[in-house]
Amino acid sequence: MAVLNIIKVGDPALRKISRPIDKITDRIKLLAADMIETMHEAEGAGLAAPQVGVLRRMVVIETEEELTYVMINPEITERSGRQRNVEGCLSVPGEWGITDRPETVTVRYTNLDGEEQTLTGSELLARAICHELDHLDGKLYIDDAIMIDEDDVKEIMYEDLDPQEIVDYVEGGEDEQ
Ligand SMILES: [Zn+2]
Repeated sequence: MAVLNIIKVGDPALRKISRPIDKITDRIKLLAADMIETMHEAEGAGLAAPQVGVLRRMVVIETEEELTYVMINPEITERSGRQRNVEGCLSVPGEWGITDRPETVTVRYTNLDGEEQTLTGSELLARAICHELDHLDGKLYIDDAIMIDEDDVKEIMYEDLDPQEIVDYVEGGEDEQ
């Protein structure tokens, strides 16, 4: 296994639409293993194949320790509710933003054994699923996020600041211009 290079915003590969995987070859299995190792090394909660320069529809997600999902050709089949919270991306290092995502999503995908799976996730898992699947269509969270600075992130994460307060503040500031 190997730690792969994560490409950064500005690289045109991040804006391309990835192709479906029609056969789970040894090469795909190795790529999945390398992506997991790369995600662990970077301390991320998810990674999509295009982020390592491979334009194929596969993501790895790990929002809970020791519970790693490899999703091949994933598709969201249901969305419900709404959540507003902080997001970051390994391809956009050092930046943070507040995004709106569904509170709960159901995703259908194929696992590495070729079995069709369905998973319903809420909160952080729902955010990670939406974020990683967006990568497969060339979308980045920064396209729609309200970008915030590191102090805001710390207040939200460690001092329970409601992300909505920051949004109100940022949007209020914009109105005055
Ligand atoms: Zn990302």
